[in-house]
Formats: sequence, C-alpha cells, structure tokens
Amino acid sequence: MTHTLNGAPLLVVGAGIMGIGIAQVAAQAGHPVMLFDTRDGAAAEAKDKLAKTLDALVAKGKLRSEEAALALSRIEAVASIDAAASARLVVEAIVENLAIKRTLFQQLEAIVAPDCVLATNTSSISVTAIANGLRHPGRLVGMHFFNPVPLMKLVEVVSGLQTDAAVAAAIFDLSKDWGKVPVHARSTPGFIVNRIARPYYAETLALLLEQAATPAVLDACLRAAGFRMGPCELMDLIGHDTNFAVTQSVYEANFFDRRFVPSLVQREMVDGGLLGRKSGRGFYAYGDGAATVLPESIESMPLPTAKLLRLHGQGPLAEGFATALEKTGQAFLRVQASDWLGLEVDGAQLRLTDGRTASQLGTEVAVFDRPLSVGHGAALAWAPSLRASPAWTGTAARWLAALDFKPQRMADTPGLVVARTLAMLINEAADAVLQGVCTPEGADAAMKLGVNYPAGPFEWLAQWNAPAVIGLLDVLDAHYRGERYRVSPWLRKFV
Ligand code: NAD
Repeated sequence: MTHTLNGAPLLVVGAGIMGIGIAQVAAQAGHPVMLFDTRDGAAAEAKDKLAKTLDALVAKGKLRSEEAALALSRIEAVASIDAAASARLVVEAIVENLAIKRTLFQQLEAIVAPDCVLATNTSSISVTAIANGLRHPGRLVGMHFFNPVPLMKLVEVVSGLQTDAAVAAAIFDLSKDWGKVPVHARSTPGFIVNRIARPYYAETLALLLEQAATPAVLDACLRAAGFRMGPCELMDLIGHDTNFAVTQSVYEANFFDRRFVPSLVQREMVDGGLLGRKSGRGFYAYGDGAATVLPESIESMPLPTAKLLRLHGQGPLAEGFATALEKTGQAFLRVQASDWLGLEVDGAQLRLTDGRTASQLGTEVAVFDRPLSVGHGAALAWAPSLRASPAWTGTAARWLAALDFKPQRMADTPGLVVARTLAMLINEAADAVLQGVCTPEGADAAMKLGVNYPAGPFEWLAQWNAPAVIGLLDVLDAHYRGERYRVSPWLRKFV
C-alpha cells in the first residue's frame, strides 16, 4: 500500500504543547486540521492560543497576515473523536502513558478509514508496544517531533516491529513537505536523540560525583567545544526531574544495563527539589539577583619562557600551535614524528589527552583537553600529574594561555571532559548504528537538529580517528571498570 499524505485531512489528538505545534505546522503546510482533546474546551483554547502565536509571527514580519488567516481557517476544534472518520492521518500527542495510548489507538481503529495512517508522538514508549492489540499494527508509526515543534527541524520517524515500510516512508515524505528533516529510527529505548545524548549529561555527572571540577568549569569547557549550552546549565533548563526520568527510563528499558545507570548527583537534586530554573535552584541559583551562571575564572598569565621548547606532533592542531607560538616570539623546534601532541618545555610535557591521566604518563607532565581549534580565548581543561613539581604545575597553564586558551584546571581524570564526552557520544552513536536504530548520517542529522549539537558524532569521528577514540574509551574502561565504557563493536570494526 502506498500513501500520499500531502494535503490530506488530519486529526491531532491532544491539544497540549506538542499537539498545538503539530496542528500549526500541518495547517501552514496546507492540511485541513481537526484538533481533539478529552478536556472540555481544551481544543478551542488551543486554537485561540495558536491565533495569538500566528499574530505574533505576523507582527514580527515572519508571516504574511493572509497566510496566518488561511492557516487558522484550516484548523477546527472538534468535540468528538468520531471526527477521525474523515481523517487520512491521525497524530496522537496525549499523555505519555502506554495503556492510555493503546486504548486511544484501539478506539481510533474502529472509527478511521482503512487507509488512514496512525502516528504517535511518544518520546519514550515503544511503538511496537503501542501497536500491540491493533487489528492492523502496520499502520502505526512514530512521528517524534521536538519542542517547540514549529522551530525544531527534526522528526524521528520511528518504526516498530510491525510498522509497514510504506507507512514509515509516507510519514518521512510528509515531514519533508512540512519543512522538517525526517530521520528513520527503529523503535528502541530513547530512539535516536534521547539515547545518544545520555553521555552528554552522564559524563559531566560522573565528573561531578568524583569532584573533578565545578559545574561552571565543565559548562565552560563544553561550550568552548561548540555546544550551545553546557550540560549543567542545560539540565537546569530541562529540569532535573525530567532529565532524571528520561535517564531512568532508558536505563530500565535496557534491562538495567549499567552503561546507562543514572547518577546519584542528579538523584540527590531531584529528591531535594533542586529541579533547576523552574524551582529557582539547580546547579546554579536563579531568581531575584542571583547570578545565573558563575563567571569563568580569568587569570592574567604572564608569558612563560623556556630554554628549550619543542612542539610535538603534526596535523591541524599542531599547525595551529605553531602559529600561536610564533606570535609569542618564543623560539621552538618541531618534532613532527612524535607519538604525542603538545609542548615539551625544558623536558616537561604538556600533552593533548589520549585518555591516560597525566599521572600515568609521568612526573613532569600535564595533559590538556581536546580543543575544537586553537585559541580564541576558549576555555580548555587541563590537569597536572599528581607528582609534578610545583614549578611545572605553576607553569603548564601559562603555556596554554600562551596558546591563547583560557586554562581550566580540573582533577587528573582520564580524557578530562571534552575528549571523554565526545568519545562517549561517538560510542553510543556507534552502538545505535550497530543495532540498526539509525544510519550514521541519520545519527548526525538527529543530534544536530534535535539537540543542536555543533556536529554529529560521526563527523567528530571523521575528524578524530577510531583507534584514538577506542584507546581513550579503553583507558576509561580500565580506570572505572563496569559496563559504561565498553567499546562498541561497531567502532572496533574500524581498527
Ligand atoms: P501536554 O500535557 O502539554 O498535552 C497533552 C494533552 O493531551 C492535554 O491537553 C490532555 O488534556 C490531552 N489528553 C490526555 N489524554 C487524552 C486522551 N486520552 N485523548 C485526548 N486528549 C488527551 O503534553 P505534551 O508535552 O504536549 O506531550 C504530549 C506527547 O508528546 C507525549 O507523548 C510526550 O511524551 C510527547 N512529547 C513531548 C515533548 C515535550 O517536550 N513536551 C517532546 C516530544 C514528544
């Protein structure tokens, strides 16, 4: 069966945050849209709210007033689910509860036309499970939008075990018609985005648990790596209760695989009512007069000098370091054929992390995190060896400042923060591909469009290399033991 849903009459069930957004996008794409909600008056209220949203878009010059009027005229608040009889597509955006969703779809199946497609906007429930009990489970598919629907481009088109390929294809094409970027996903816990994103929070929470750095330092370093928000400020925005619930559901749904185990740090915050912005306090304090995010420490560092300065390594980063060093006027030698990257300062080493801690690498050693590019005053984590002399501990950061970074000292932990987080995001994405959840291209698009990552995991992998990522993960695995850092077999295939 092929389905062309372009312009087809549509019923949106659930007139909450997501339902309104879906109705807006569909109406603007030319569909007649019916909107239904079990709460009396909710659908009509939603239409009024949408009228105001469209007016605001007109006032901002983002929409012509005729278009706004036309879109609004296409939306009808309906009082009964029986309106589904005239729909070719039903999109469900009701409460996130398996039993209630199942009941709704069974009810809908008795009303809709035989070729009507049924879509669920669930963000965490198995599409396979929702379809169980339907007479035609093949017509049910996940159409997972992101909040706010009109702005977020990603749609995860989620296929359950019994979803017809033609149905998934029709929703894929329709999403494109609506100006979205659809990505096919297999129904597995967290689908693509909510699964691959777990380590972004988990690694920072793990570092906080062992007091390796403060939230402000971790946030500053990850922002410098191109993320729009650091994990701590982002968890404060999402709400720790919501973020913890998603982590817990992915953990439970994976039969308590310790790879996904939630963090005590977050559990404490939830239990204590420190939910983030909405409660006035999370990692940071909000509200009257409270600083939202603590300022990064900016130390002014005098330029260091060396009797013998060597720049080890090659590639874009080493070239960037060479240019930065030339600007300082310091004489230096190049050691291109080196097995590490960084500066050798009178015998002491300042090395790009390969996962091993500075203490594992030697005495007069400091490691620094993986930078996005050289300098521009970007925050960059570093750590000295526990056995380093006070002289080297005091000087190492000045060399990072000379390379135009804003050094952020943290505890000597494997992979520091950015390298460790990126490696874990790559690893999780690799497992998702291994399990057929999505393609590498799908994972990249999903992470960039669903959670605004500066690049996709496989794009990071292409700029880095698989043996280095595996090496870093193996160090983490040996250091912490347990399942979290086990390397995806998909990555091993590269080596
Ligand atoms: P919401 O609470 O804002 O809206 C849900 C609406 O559904 C309410 O108006 C409620 O009255 C109505 N409703 C409940 N049971 C119903 C039923 N049986 N029949 C008809 N209407 C019913 O919730 P939301 O945030 O819009 O989320 C809706 C769905 O979208 C959930 O499955 C959620 O997981 C998913 N989702 C939410 C987000 C998000 O950021 N909020 C993002 C992606 C997906």
